[in-house]
Amino acid sequence: MISGSLKRRVREQLLQGASHIKLVGGGGVSSPRSPLDMTTFSEDEIRAAVEVARDWNTYVTIHAYAPRTVQRAIAGGVACVEHAHLMDEDTARMFADKNVWLSTQPFLSMEDAASQTGPGVERVKQLFAGTPKVYDYAKKYGIKLAWGSDVLFSPQLTPRQNIMLTHLSNWFSNADALKMATSVNAELLALSNLRTPYAGKLGVIEEGALADVLVWNGNPLDDLRLIEAPEKNLSVIVKDGRVHKNLL
Ligand SMILES: [Zn+2]
Repeated sequence: MISGSLKRRVREQLLQGASHIKLVGGGGVSSPRSPLDMTTFSEDEIRAAVEVARDWNTYVTIHAYAPRTVQRAIAGGVACVEHAHLMDEDTARMFADKNVWLSTQPFLSMEDAASQTGPGVERVKQLFAGTPKVYDYAKKYGIKLAWGSDVLFSPQLTPRQNIMLTHLSNWFSNADALKMATSVNAELLALSNLRTPYAGKLGVIEEGALADVLVWNGNPLDDLRLIEAPEKNLSVIVKDGRVHKNLL
């Protein structure tokens, strides 16, 4: 019965135009009443949500930090797990065995998150402590990685996203870091098939694709930190075929 109500909620979201579904599989930094170690849904509930999403030819991703939460989500058939900063090695193996995506965030400096209050203060420290292990496991087991930022929460902190992308240099080549944030992220989003909100293909430069192009004054393959100062180093911004900045 409970999984029946979850199915109804997922159908509601898809009927309202959602491209895909993100379940809140467990606690989070900014959810004071649900601690990081708690798990929200049973495996049956997760599977029910996944079935509805499949009927709509799209996918379920899930917010999950703790090993049990992540493992249950993978067992329930999700296509992607978000965060997973507290995962252990058994969990990493499960990602690889089931070919599940991990969409995570490289938190390395406390400036990579907005300042927290209440229980969020301790929780965000736990995520930071877990980050290096997550990327080590992802490399060791060849987990499919998507890139993102998370707890920035304000336009003032938005420029931090570029700095966070350069954190990936600790584990990956500059080319692989840039690919993760562009064509590889696009592969994950393409799992929404016809539910995609975009009018063209993402993550490629080809005829018919959305023309989102950045031109840098310098070669980010040699020096990724160029992207930390976009005002200075970004010469051209084209989005959806429209030029928003052109210093050339
Ligand atoms: Zn989340």
